[in-house]
Amino acid sequence: MGNKNVTAEIIAVGTEILLGNIVNTNAAYLAEKLSELGISCFYQSVVGDNAERLEDTIRLALQRSDVILLSGGLGPTEDDLTKETACKVAGAKMYCHEESKARLIAYFEKRGLTLTENNYKQAMIPEGGIVLTNNNGTAPGVIIPFENKHIILMPGPPGELKPMFEESVAPYLRKLTPDVILSQTVKVCSVGESMAETMIADLIDTQDNPSIATYAKTGEVHIRVTAKAENEAQAEKLIKPVVRELKNRFGNNVYTTREDVSLEAAVVELLKSCDMKIMTVESCTGGMVASKIVNVPGASEVFKCGLVTYSNKAKRKLAGVKKSTLEKYTAVSKETAYEMVKSPEVWQKADVIVGVTGYASAPEEDPSKAGLVYVSCNACGKITVKEFKFSGNRAKVRESAAVQALVLARQCLLEALSEKTFGE
Ligand code: ATP
Ligand code: MG
Repeated sequence: MGNKNVTAEIIAVGTEILLGNIVNTNAAYLAEKLSELGISCFYQSVVGDNAERLEDTIRLALQRSDVILLSGGLGPTEDDLTKETACKVAGAKMYCHEESKARLIAYFEKRGLTLTENNYKQAMIPEGGIVLTNNNGTAPGVIIPFENKHIILMPGPPGELKPMFEESVAPYLRKLTPDVILSQTVKVCSVGESMAETMIADLIDTQDNPSIATYAKTGEVHIRVTAKAENEAQAEKLIKPVVRELKNRFGNNVYTTREDVSLEAAVVELLKSCDMKIMTVESCTGGMVASKIVNVPGASEVFKCGLVTYSNKAKRKLAGVKKSTLEKYTAVSKETAYEMVKSPEVWQKADVIVGVTGYASAPEEDPSKAGLVYVSCNACGKITVKEFKFSGNRAKVRESAAVQALVLARQCLLEALSEKTFGE
């Protein structure tokens, strides 16, 4: 029977990682896998090819974690010292593992390469260690059980580490823990992160299993509910009531509880469900709203046309904004945003028209207006305009504006639909 709360930590070995020459993708991979296995990973470290510091790091890890996953430093050269160091810490002697030696010889022969003396180092295995066959390279991995803990050594190249983890390490770890971890994400728009957290403060304060975590995204908040249980069905049972409660609290602002559904996909789905068409009239976003919509498979069923009316002339000629409006209120104003969606010249009988106009960066005449954006929406004839003051650089402001345009479109569409239902 496994221990319920197995903890693990990851140690990546390699000076190249410390120097930033290579990215520590092994740690990211292993962390994700541990989470899937229901093993809590509380620490990750990177150590250079230095025996002393590596020894310290392994000793520290043994004090606080049950499973220590090491990557790298299993090669044949002098600077590859992970195995030697781990053996020193565990007090294990090494012996020549004949099967590994034979594999090594066969590996070299097959490729017409000559073995040098230091290559045999890779066939040396700590006594009591479990050998993990490497089908994609020369260095076998090893699991060293030590005082109820598990030191697991894997080669650094991801093409060797990943299959070794899948084939040998994961089955070993699965026996240590009977838990599975399952999570579901409640995606919320129209509510800021701090507001969202306030609305569920009581749930967050008392959370245990499932745990609840909020993640701020541009213009949206994702709330992740994660449960740990003996099997998937149990985990689902724990998650369900919490997700239901979150849906109750955020109501219509929850646009999906599905991992693979983006905000734009939810908007497209909604339009499809009520057989409505959308068009965009964009200035500072330069077509980003249209592009997001078109990114969703099946967008052609709902997307009519997108205008990029960047100049004042385009706003007049294509979007039908009055000259007097532009002169009196300027291009970045709620009046212009209103008229952009009122009856654009290229009006194609869309049910929903979204408009965006704003300053993506500081305008010369008034730098304080940087990030000022008006988003408008005409849903079945009813026009709504919202003002935003976004922070960040040009790219960030444009992204925020595009997301808020989708949020507003969704909101207005839902309102129009509910009025329609009540009116009948
Ligand atoms: P080799 O026998 O190839 O020397 P090794 O087990 O000794 O393998 P390292 O020498 O530490 O591993 O790393 C070999 C290569 O593997 C690196 O040059 C790098 O490309 C890749 N690598 C090592 N560690 C990582 C890591 N943490 N994340 C991603 N890639 C890594
Ligand atoms: Mg190496």
